[in-house]
Amino acid sequence: MTHKELRQIRDEHDLTQRELGELLGYNANYIARLERGEAPITKRLEKMLRAFFSTQTRRRHIISQGNLTLREWEELKAAYDSRCAYCGKKQERLSQDHVIALDNGGQHRITNIVPACRSCNSRKGNRETMVPMKPSELQDISMGI
Ligand SMILES: [Zn+2]
Repeated sequence: MTHKELRQIRDEHDLTQRELGELLGYNANYIARLERGEAPITKRLEKMLRAFFSTQTRRRHIISQGNLTLREWEELKAAYDSRCAYCGKKQERLSQDHVIALDNGGQHRITNIVPACRSCNSRKGNRETMVPMKPSELQDISMGI
């Protein structure tokens, strides 16, 4: 794995250097050094990276029926007023949450995707016990505040 690839992986998963560092157990400085080529990407590190960011996720997106376009995603976020569909908090960085997980046969299309903040997304995982709100329900919440 090259330094450039490391950077690509981070971009693809929309992670900051600090966030990637937290996942791997390094600080942000070290991730920055790795990306600049000032520190070697060891076999051990590469193995960890591959385990975390296996091509599985990408492959599933391609295999699964439907494909969310960037435009649909932007529209979806706008409909939700840039809020998380679970907690209703306004967030700049929202991730695509599959209401029915891809692992459970959910599709990667707009009808099965809602914007979610990082903490709700990770809290939810593949459990599907959390029910997302509709944009209209979110508006009620923000009015009430
Ligand atoms: Zn949330």
